[in-house]
Amino acid sequence: MNIHEYQAKELLRAYGAPVGEGRVITNPEDAARQAAELDAPLIVVKAQIHAGGRGKGRFKEPEAGEKGGVRLARSPEEAAEEARRMLGHTLVTHQTGPEGKVVNRVYLEAGADIARELYLAVLIDRKSGRISFVASTEGGMDIEEVAAKTPGKILTITVDPATGYMPFHGRRIAFALGLEGQQVKEMVKLAGALYRLFTEKDAELIEINPLIVTPAGELRCLDAKMGFDDNALFRHPDIAALRDETEEDPKEREAAKYDLNYIALDGNIGCMVNGAGLAMATMDIIKLYGGEPANFLDVGGGATKEKVAAAFKIITSDPKVEGILVNIFGGIMRCDIIAEGVVAAVREVGLEVPLVVRLEGTNVEKGKEILRESGLDVIPADDLDDAAQKIVAAVRERQAA
Ligand code: GDP
Ligand code: MG
Repeated sequence: MNIHEYQAKELLRAYGAPVGEGRVITNPEDAARQAAELDAPLIVVKAQIHAGGRGKGRFKEPEAGEKGGVRLARSPEEAAEEARRMLGHTLVTHQTGPEGKVVNRVYLEAGADIARELYLAVLIDRKSGRISFVASTEGGMDIEEVAAKTPGKILTITVDPATGYMPFHGRRIAFALGLEGQQVKEMVKLAGALYRLFTEKDAELIEINPLIVTPAGELRCLDAKMGFDDNALFRHPDIAALRDETEEDPKEREAAKYDLNYIALDGNIGCMVNGAGLAMATMDIIKLYGGEPANFLDVGGGATKEKVAAAFKIITSDPKVEGILVNIFGGIMRCDIIAEGVVAAVREVGLEVPLVVRLEGTNVEKGKEILRESGLDVIPADDLDDAAQKIVAAVRERQAA
């Protein structure tokens, strides 16, 4: 689960990390008063959406103005004006996709002057299986781009779980970032705070980009992105309360209700598969034959007919879906349950796109019979290869028609 920048900054503040003073607003009428209360010569007006690249993003509506989702204002009136322009409008960044995200909250922050922009993140390094710090002198930029073009400018330090965070970790980061004197002490404190926050709240990512050095030589977290482990949210009601459902894909939200492992993707072939490994393999083979999956979906082992029907409805509700591939290997999951779920869902919502079904394993004959007798227009497939080729071909045919 991801949270907004202003929420992340509240957590940072609670852990003693240096952040500026700020106010979040949802109602344009509050903008002027809140901006005035900040009482700062420079106010940064920041669109709160769960996506990065806001500064370089652009709004869809002309009323929002030419500038991006991070704007500098020299007076409370100007800040209020910019906040009003952003609220209710759609910001498109390289992370939102072309549809963009509606800005429902705007954060006003007392602005800082910047001498240097650095990068600092805490994450779980999959290679070492350890919590790691990632630091770079190239802050404020897209870190993926830095990693691709100048990997030497990125320092990764893994933390041994047996010792946890130690001051030398912070000193190594500080020296790599060219910090001196008092700043080294500040970094030791900041890195320790981030590590404590990361472990105590079961975070998956804390990213400060940029972490700035002010002209006076102080460190400050200018931007903050945080994600938390969904499976650990049950023990952090304070974090769970920060959820903003309007930021989440409605299909993923619906899937979560039925305990389905569903992730929306950009392609046009909807997939219903059991088992995460088979789901990954199905996506790979669709791509191999020139198609693009519209989602990852693992219906799980012991799914019921209702759960399967819900999964099928989520897939068909996606307007991008131009074909569906059901690929089931019945082990614990029974093929007849899958067939019943598909038939029930189609009876309810109809089927306007080609459907390829490959069933194998427990009760496969019964499953095939249910599909045959339903009168559904199913394209049967013998194996994974055959299934992927058939759905890619069927989608192409439909597009040509
Ligand atoms: P992002 O574009 O979504 O990553 O949003 P950021 O919060 O990182 O802001 C983008 C850029 O706006 C930063 O890299 C800074 O260059 C600039 N910016 C943000 N806050 C301030 C501020 O307080 N003062 C100044 N001078 N620039 C800022
Ligand atoms: Mg940023």
